[in-house]
Amino acid sequence: MAYQQSRGGFRPRTNSGDGRSGGSRPSFGGGNGGGRPSFNRGRSGGSRGPVKKFIHPSKFINQATPKAEEVAYVPVNKFIDFPFGSQLHHNIAKKGYELPSSIQDQAIPHIIEGKDVIGIANTGTGKTAAFLLPIIERQTGISLRPSVLIIAPTRELAQQIDEQFREFSYGLNLYSALVVGGMPADRQIRDLRRRPHFIIGTPGRLKDLMNRRHINLENINTLVLDEADRMLDMGFLPDIRAIVSEMPSERQTLLFSATITPEITTIINNFSHDPVTVSVRTRETNEHIEQDVIEARDKAHKLELLTDMLRDTDQYDKVLVFGETKFGVQRLSDHLDNSGISSIAIHGNKNQSQRARALKRFKDGQVRVMVATDVAARGLDIPNVSHVINFDTPQTYDDYIHRIGRTGRGGASGRAHTFIESRR
Ligand code: AMP
Repeated sequence: MAYQQSRGGFRPRTNSGDGRSGGSRPSFGGGNGGGRPSFNRGRSGGSRGPVKKFIHPSKFINQATPKAEEVAYVPVNKFIDFPFGSQLHHNIAKKGYELPSSIQDQAIPHIIEGKDVIGIANTGTGKTAAFLLPIIERQTGISLRPSVLIIAPTRELAQQIDEQFREFSYGLNLYSALVVGGMPADRQIRDLRRRPHFIIGTPGRLKDLMNRRHINLENINTLVLDEADRMLDMGFLPDIRAIVSEMPSERQTLLFSATITPEITTIINNFSHDPVTVSVRTRETNEHIEQDVIEARDKAHKLELLTDMLRDTDQYDKVLVFGETKFGVQRLSDHLDNSGISSIAIHGNKNQSQRARALKRFKDGQVRVMVATDVAARGLDIPNVSHVINFDTPQTYDDYIHRIGRTGRGGASGRAHTFIESRR
C-alpha cells in the first residue's frame, strides 16, 4: 500500500527518485518546452470528461525537501522613496507593508515614469500593489473618467483587486466599479453611472455592459491585464480584443502573466508600446513545497485515504482539495460532510455570493477544508494553506504548479499530495 500508517498518523509514501527531473524547474519563460508532460485533452464523447493520457507523476512532481534557509529579497527602494502623496503612504503603512516586494521594487519606478510594463509574476508576489499604487497616485484629481480599466480572469481575483484598491485609495476620493459576472448587473450599472475612476472586472461582463453602452472607455488612460495567460487559457482573447479596441491607443498598458507563451507575446505586441519587462522569480515551488504522490487503487480508495488524512486535524490544518469537475467537487464535498468532515465547495455552479461566503469561511478558519475546481481557485490569495491535495490529477504541468502554489505562501512551507490511480 502506498499510503502507510506511521506513528504520528498517516504518512504518504514518497516517490522513488527514478525519472524525476532534478534541479529547479522554472515556472515562467520559454513556454511549454523542455520535458514538460502534457495530458491529452481529447474528449471521450461520454459524460466522463476529458480522457487523459497516462503520464507517470514522477515526470511532473519534483520530489523536494524544503530548504531551511531562504535568501530574502533586498529591495533597492523603500516605500517612502516612491513619490506618492502622504495619504497613500499612510494607507500603505496601515496595510502593514514595510518593504516593497521584488515586483513592486522593480516595476513601480517604471510605472511611475509612464512606461508600459510587462510583469512576469504570479499571485503571491505582491503584483496587485505593484500596479495599484502608482496608478492610484496618478489618478488623484483626474476629471475625465473612467480613467483606469483593470481586467482579471475571475470574479474572485477582480474582487480581491477591488478590495485592495479600496484600502489603498482610502481618503483619496477615488472610486471604483466592480463589473463581474455571476451577480446581477443592476448595481454594477448604477456604480458605472457614477463615473468611477477605476473599472475592475472580468472580460465577459465588461464586454456585455460595453455592448449595452453602460461602459464608455474613451477616457481610459491606463489598462491593466492581470493574469493574462490565464485569461487566454480561458478563451477570453476575443472579448479582450473587443474591449481594447474601444479605448484610446494613447494609454499606459500594464500586463501581468506568470508565463510568457507565444500567444502572450502576440498580445504584448498588439496591446503595448515599447514595454519594459520585469521578471520576478519567486521561490520555485519545488524548493519549498514538499510534494508527494499517493497511489490509490480506484476512486473509492482515494476517498477512503482522503477521509483518513483529513481526520488528522493537527496536521491537516487548512486544506485545499482540487477536483476536476464542478459536479465532482460538489460530490466530494458532500461526501466529506457525510463522513463528519466539514468542508465547503467552490466551483462555477455556485453564484458569486455563495462563492464569496464560502471563501471567507475558509479564509477565516471557520472551516478547515475547501474543495475547488481549478478555475474557481485561480488567483485566490488564501493565507496559511497547510496542504494542497490533488484529488484528481491536474490536466497540465502549469495547472499543477498553480494548484500547489496555493500552499507555502509568504515564506511558509507547504505540502502537496497528488493522488494517482494505480494502473492495472
Ligand atoms: P498579490 O500577489 O498581489 O496577490 O499579493 C499577495 C499578498 O501579499 C497580499 O495579501 C498582499 O496584501 C501581500 N503583500 C503585497 N505586497 C506586500 C508588501 N510589500 N509587504 C507585505 N505584504 C504584501
